[in-house]
Amino acid sequence: ASLFTAIEMAPRDPILGITEGFNADKNPGKTNLGVGVYYDDNGKVPLLECVQKAEALLIEKLSPRTYLPIEGLASYDKAVQELVFGADSAVVQENRAITVQAIGGTGALKLGADFLKRFAAANAQVWISDPSWENHRALFESAGFTVNNYPYYDATTRGVNFSGMLDALKTMASGSVVVLHACCHNPTGADLTSDQWTQVIEVVTQRGLIPFLDMAYQGFGDGIDADGEVVRRFAKAGGPLFVSNSFSKSFSLYGERVGALSIVAASKEEAGRVLSQLKRVVRTNYSNPPIHGGQVVATTLASPELRKLWEEELAGMRVRIREMRQLLVSKLKEQAPAHDFDFVIKQRGMFSYSGLTKAQVERLRDEFSIYAVDTGRICVAALNTKNIDNVVAAIAKVL
Ligand code: PMP
Repeated sequence: ASLFTAIEMAPRDPILGITEGFNADKNPGKTNLGVGVYYDDNGKVPLLECVQKAEALLIEKLSPRTYLPIEGLASYDKAVQELVFGADSAVVQENRAITVQAIGGTGALKLGADFLKRFAAANAQVWISDPSWENHRALFESAGFTVNNYPYYDATTRGVNFSGMLDALKTMASGSVVVLHACCHNPTGADLTSDQWTQVIEVVTQRGLIPFLDMAYQGFGDGIDADGEVVRRFAKAGGPLFVSNSFSKSFSLYGERVGALSIVAASKEEAGRVLSQLKRVVRTNYSNPPIHGGQVVATTLASPELRKLWEEELAGMRVRIREMRQLLVSKLKEQAPAHDFDFVIKQRGMFSYSGLTKAQVERLRDEFSIYAVDTGRICVAALNTKNIDNVVAAIAKVL
């Protein structure tokens, strides 16, 4: 027997598996709503104009590809920190926050998980929402944590089971790590209200829990600042605080892998020690991040003209998703008047927990070549004015 003889086949990634099925489908009218990617009204992943202009600037002054510092491009880290916390925030002004470039939002979560495994209490456990982005559990488990779920989605109200969530927070041991979606909850689309966040921040602070805010969709909910508000409020409440953010969606830079991890400490001196240890985590994982994506984002955020263009283009994506939500609901009202889909309009971000059952999702796939996640999650950002009638007609038939 060789080293590999007894190795079992790993389970397929559930979401990527949907795309494999979609790609193999020969029906020309097929639609993939299982993805986690923004498509424009022509069904294409956009190449943002701000990105093209930033890339043109970078090509004008071609530079050698030296290694970046372990913590990434300094101008990128600074721009990200100001975007996430606000340039005038106390944590930035007092140099209490550190930000390192990461390999997408996923890489930021992994850096945070590895760091916490080394420095959180030995028995500290991690809590994620039920349900959560499917990679959260695996990421923290692979870093060595026991991962638990706190109640989140309430299928009967199609909203958040807030009392269940709050009660769970109140029973967690001090020093537990709580992963929270800063905006545009994936997969449900159900976010907390401002008042509910106030209560969460209070409990997290009182109980000495460690908040880890994951912000993969800043700008897709109510706007860049509105979506970042939760992070700022947590930062104001004092550290420690972990924030992972991603530009995969907001810059449509999926394959460039651009994200960052920020940590808020109690003082500048403490932040310096935290950064020194975080750099060791980076160094032993991949040494230092790639250059291009970080340069594109840093160039865009540093130029008033390009930044304005980015904000407009991001608003365009946000508004189009909202329009698709409205259209989906109004068309379903016509074709399936017995069913109430108004909750879809209240949901935020790219996704909707549609309420479709596993059996209905299977029928959509087998009879109509429409692909969604078994849980009923659909990507609203994959709907467009060309495919929506087909999708609505199919949903009306399987309900
Ligand atoms: N967190 C959440 C909640 C996500 O939905 C995603 C991406 N789908 C990520 C993190 C990871 O982002 P990235 O693709 O930049 O690694």
